[in-house]
Amino acid sequence: MKKNIAIAGAGLVGSLLAIYLLRRGYHVTIFERRPDMRKNQAGTGRSINLALSNRGLHALDEVGLSDDLRAVAIPMHGRMVHDRQGNTNLQPYGKQGQFINSISRSNLNIVLMNKAEAMGAIFHFEQRVTHIDTERSAITTASPENHLATYHFDGIVGADGAYSAVRLDLQLTDRFDFSQAYIEHGYKELHIPAAGQFTLEKNALHIWPRESFMLIALPNPDGSFTGTLFFPFEGKNSFASLTTDAAIRSFLEETFPDVIKLMPEALHDFNHNPTGSLVTTRCYPWVRHTTVLIGDAAHAIVPFYGQGMNAGFEDCSVLNKLLQRHHDHWDAAIREFQQLRKPDTDAIAQLALDNFIEMRDLVADEKFVLRKKIEARIHELYPDKWVPLYSMVTFHENIRYADALQIGRKQKEIMDDILAQPDIATTWPSLNFEQLANRLHRP
Ligand SMILES: Cc1cc2nc3c(=O)[nH]c(=O)nc-3n(C[C@H](O)[C@H](O)[C@H](O)COP(=O)(O)OP(=O)(O)OC[C@H]3O[C@@H](n4cnc5c(N)ncnc54)[C@H](O)[C@@H]3O)c2cc1C
Repeated sequence: MKKNIAIAGAGLVGSLLAIYLLRRGYHVTIFERRPDMRKNQAGTGRSINLALSNRGLHALDEVGLSDDLRAVAIPMHGRMVHDRQGNTNLQPYGKQGQFINSISRSNLNIVLMNKAEAMGAIFHFEQRVTHIDTERSAITTASPENHLATYHFDGIVGADGAYSAVRLDLQLTDRFDFSQAYIEHGYKELHIPAAGQFTLEKNALHIWPRESFMLIALPNPDGSFTGTLFFPFEGKNSFASLTTDAAIRSFLEETFPDVIKLMPEALHDFNHNPTGSLVTTRCYPWVRHTTVLIGDAAHAIVPFYGQGMNAGFEDCSVLNKLLQRHHDHWDAAIREFQQLRKPDTDAIAQLALDNFIEMRDLVADEKFVLRKKIEARIHELYPDKWVPLYSMVTFHENIRYADALQIGRKQKEIMDDILAQPDIATTWPSLNFEQLANRLHRP
């Protein structure tokens, strides 16, 4: 059994994987480029939040952390859609009792790091991984003063995110496939402060869909919301076109009239918060000798399904099961891991890209709302035969992403046919729902 494992990156996935490995009896050393975020909590007041759903919760459950984290998360039962006139419409995510969770990224990371450390993980902060020698299973790191150190391990995990240094070294090896594609939108955070209470519905993910762009907001426990504007870099309405304070102010006021009143610092945020870019990366193989990539390092996706972290947590759960199955034979487990997981992470990458169009455009479309209503009815009547795509991805961790993608495509064909019927908006209650559900299972 290979006992000494190095993990590059103490982010969400690296920290969770450390816990899984420690539970199996491994010695784990983590190298993290940034300072220890636990020592610098004063500055994290405006915590950025994430949607945590069943796949992520399942993994947290396996390491005994899901109850603690559920306690600090805010359930979001549906999308609250805000139109240009300020009207709202709540679209439930699933059945009654199904919800996703808004959780602070930094708090979640801290909980995972604390648990890993308490179990014996050794953290080296401010140690940037600069080079991996996969043949010798060696990792080289640099301190802020650029002092280099090289360590040898039995196995190395690259959990160092979308711009992974570990992956960069794999890219230099023979027959390594790699692609990255940016979308034309970037994102910027705009804060909605608490006013003694929540100023929008607390238990919802708020969306202001505006066809080619959108604003979303997720609740924080202190009553504030973290808003994120997904907006083109270039073009008529874009980060590039809004160059003066007056232009930014009038754009925000005209486009998001109901929420802009709740954002006294919107102009300041727009001018001072960084504009992030959104990338999908695909690569293969994830394994070279004893080194393996995991999480965003292996498969960074755009955030529109709220699944990047959830997929990374599911990676950890899958790798753990494979280590179990292979009696902790590291090399065999990581090889099966990449083969098993690659189709699923390719699938969620595609689903995430598709969902941007749904969120920014379709949620405000009457036909789309009708489609969701009909699907919800089929699911209600025949829950074992038809599970809507969003539910498969978000609430059914036992359905693989690749299967969800395939089933979702077939559902779309069936629903496109139904929605093409004349007068469907009024006749839909008398559809033969059983026949529709059975059609999905016809070869
Ligand atoms: C705007 C936005 C919203 C999102 N919303 C959601 C959501 O709602 N739900 C969801 O599931 N996912 C969401 N995601 C995706 C999620 O953030 C990522 O999938 C997740 O953070 C991946 O975790 P990771 O540990 O693999 O990588 P990261 O979180 O990027 O962690 C990598 C770690 O490695 C460290 N590191 C990097 N390079 C080095 C190096 N050379 N040496 C040492 N350390 C290094 C970094 O400092 C970092 O700590 C969102 C992403 C974005 C951009």
